[in-house]
Amino acid sequence: MNGRAGGLAQLGGLFPTVFGRNLIGELENFVNPPFLVVTMPDLWDRFSHHFDSAAAVAHLVETIDGDELAQVVETLPECSAVVGLGGGQAIDAAKYVAWRRRLPLFQLPTSMSVNAAFGHRAGLRFSGNVRYVGWAVPEAVYVDFDVIRAAPAHINRSGICEILCYHTAHADWRLAAKRGKVEDKWPLDEALIAEARSVLDEVMGHLDDIREVNETGIRVLMDANRWGGAAYHNAGWNPRHIEGIDHFVFYALEYFTGRKFIHGQPVCLGIYVGSLLHDDRAEEMLSAIHRAGVDIRPEAMGLTWEEVAHALKNLRSFVRQAGLWYGIAHEAEIDDRFIARLEQGITGQYGEWQGA
Ligand SMILES: [Zn+2]
Repeated sequence: MNGRAGGLAQLGGLFPTVFGRNLIGELENFVNPPFLVVTMPDLWDRFSHHFDSAAAVAHLVETIDGDELAQVVETLPECSAVVGLGGGQAIDAAKYVAWRRRLPLFQLPTSMSVNAAFGHRAGLRFSGNVRYVGWAVPEAVYVDFDVIRAAPAHINRSGICEILCYHTAHADWRLAAKRGKVEDKWPLDEALIAEARSVLDEVMGHLDDIREVNETGIRVLMDANRWGGAAYHNAGWNPRHIEGIDHFVFYALEYFTGRKFIHGQPVCLGIYVGSLLHDDRAEEMLSAIHRAGVDIRPEAMGLTWEEVAHALKNLRSFVRQAGLWYGIAHEAEIDDRFIARLEQGITGQYGEWQGA
């Protein structure tokens, strides 16, 4: 992995990342006080004993709406640095505060569920839609093995979606090129695909470690997320090699059901759906998702098969309306036969749903 990471660092840059233990306890020894800890209420309950109240002021995140956050920033106290402590929301809010206030930023992800800690922009909501805004390169991202392992295992494992989705992203990009539908600004780039593929292969070789959330699993998945988090920027704000129908299925499920999800479950479902539509190693991807311990049965994410079927049958109009980049979702006709095939594959791998 080192050779690739080194090469990439020359091209665009990956965030300095440190693995270790007792990393929260060390913050007060080097972060310029007074500093703001941007975190969630439950996490602050768990970790506040690491901070001297004279040095650290907590901001408990209540919104990731961009307009609301702009007002919140106005009310925050004067400080010299920002610490982001949490999953995606706290990490993104910390980026936003550091960006607006032009302050040094230190990020401490508390789970592996998303790659937010390793990306330049904050994924905020504007009128309910996700937009990636701002610019925040942290001084360092600190990955504490004990902190990560304290998060629920199924949340940690779900982060594998951020890497396995490269498989369907690549199939979409090649299809778009073949159809003459690829964007002028994002012509097919096999070198970029090969680079993403090597990250994907590394993760595929450590599925059991990731399922176990052992030290090796944490290093492999976080290193992969480190590459993937910066990949959008490093490819010139091009998402083609890292995202496709996998995430579009998730957006459609969110849109049609109004439900909140653990990111990795609907995205992994989208990876299997996309692999089936492309007829490209679908069973291998399903088996990898299962082996890593991510449950993609609709019931496991609080959905019915009818709700999934509705979202998928409307996927084609959804991606066109949303203006998402061209892929198999734009042309595939998803009908009852496909849904039956999908259900058969998933039930065959996971068994019938017996309740949580
Ligand atoms: Zn994602």
